Amino acid sequence: MPSETEVIVIGAGAAGIAATRRLADAGVPALLVEARDRLGGRAFTVDHDGTGVDLGCGWLHSAGSNPLVAIAEAQGRHIDRSLPSWGRPALERNFPLAEQRAFQQAIAAFYERLGVLAARASDAPCSAAFEPGNRWNGLIGAVVSYISGGDAARVSALDFENYAGTDLNWRVAEGYGTVITAQARGLDVALDTMVERVDHSGNLLRIETARGTIAARHAIVTLPTDIIAAREDLFFPALPDKVEAAAGLPLGLADKLYLTLAHPEEFARDTRLFGRIDSKDTATYTLRPQGRPHIEGYFGDGLAATLERGGVKAFVDFAVGQLADALGSEFKKRVSLLDMHLWAADPFARGSYSFALPGRAECRQKLAAPVDGRLFFAGEACSKVDFSTAHGAYATGLGAAEQAIAARKGA
Ligand SMILES: Cc1cc2nc3c(=O)[nH]c(=O)nc-3n(C[C@H](O)[C@H](O)[C@H](O)COP(=O)(O)OP(=O)(O)OC[C@H]3O[C@@H](n4cnc5c(N)ncnc54)[C@H](O)[C@@H]3O)c2cc1C
Repeated sequence: MPSETEVIVIGAGAAGIAATRRLADAGVPALLVEARDRLGGRAFTVDHDGTGVDLGCGWLHSAGSNPLVAIAEAQGRHIDRSLPSWGRPALERNFPLAEQRAFQQAIAAFYERLGVLAARASDAPCSAAFEPGNRWNGLIGAVVSYISGGDAARVSALDFENYAGTDLNWRVAEGYGTVITAQARGLDVALDTMVERVDHSGNLLRIETARGTIAARHAIVTLPTDIIAAREDLFFPALPDKVEAAAGLPLGLADKLYLTLAHPEEFARDTRLFGRIDSKDTATYTLRPQGRPHIEGYFGDGLAATLERGGVKAFVDFAVGQLADALGSEFKKRVSLLDMHLWAADPFARGSYSFALPGRAECRQKLAAPVDGRLFFAGEACSKVDFSTAHGAYATGLGAAEQAIAARKGA
């Protein structure tokens, strides 16, 4: 590991990889340091029988304008442009079509009220858009938890509305994590190198890591918000404004469980099934995602947090119970665990993606603001409109690299 570099990039997720790639392309010496023994952070694909299974990000959201689509294509990957399960009718066995229509009307009305709320001068939690007593509030709350990772009562309506996603959502057969980590090929990377302190008291930055200290002129910090918020001593001198901004953007929790499915042909590809339709504490399941013999369970917020306490087995038991309730007790014999990752228990993530607390939407710009023209910030939480996504993280990484390049020229 070098003891000195021009720009040090902290964290090798989508943002850190984008930043380092851009710097390397501009001929700027840059070192990417990462605490884990792998690249990608919350972009994490594992191989199962030659197929890429995404335990973190999987959807190329806003695919029409998402730069990672062209990057994936240039890498020769296979883009799956088929409709996501949430754009298709759900399985009717536990959710009759007439009920689905009633739910769609209720959630459309909820989103409309949310838009009105967000336009008000003072911010409110998303839960203020619930219609009191509406029978679909539980399921709408579950959907909000899948999208934001948080409970509607804790999520800023303004921030939720600021999100600029489109209806075009694609996947990549080899895995989104595969695409993102491949972008790091040829970069100078130090894995297993946890950053313990960023000392910006002197002329040169001194980045103290578990494997020694590296001096640098500039640094790009891409750490997840819960890590910045929990580490008041990360920066020396301390940067209370950054800690405060990060605390306003906690990581919500979303966990994915993959099961293998025997006799999958019974179901159409990408079939959606809600475990329950009358409760917030339900997972949503995609049967045969991308046509594969799998089931992908998606768990948000409190349900995911509770199950994480019981480990992967608790998720499997819960999912198998919900699937058996919906599809019959014999269904239990057709599924078994394929894979999952517990994101809240992961010490280098501590959650899945950021949401803003009510009244704290502006924390995204505060977190993203450079310090002294030499400390730059990137990561999904720094994006005003594409937060919580991999392409949002990627774009902030490119932006921070441009800031560092401009600062070098100005120096
Ligand atoms: C279950 C799940 C599903 C998701 N689904 C989607 C989706 O479908 N589409 C989508 O666009 N997004 C999705 N996301 C969100 C997306 O994965 C993230 O927004 C994005 O990957 C974040 O990238 P990042 O670079 O900001 O952060 P990270 O990927 O978290 O990168 C930060 C890096 O910093 C490292 N690090 C932490 N502490 C230290 C330290 N002290 N020293 C050095 N390194 C450190 C971490 O190990 C990590 O590699 C999902 C996330 C999860 C968890």
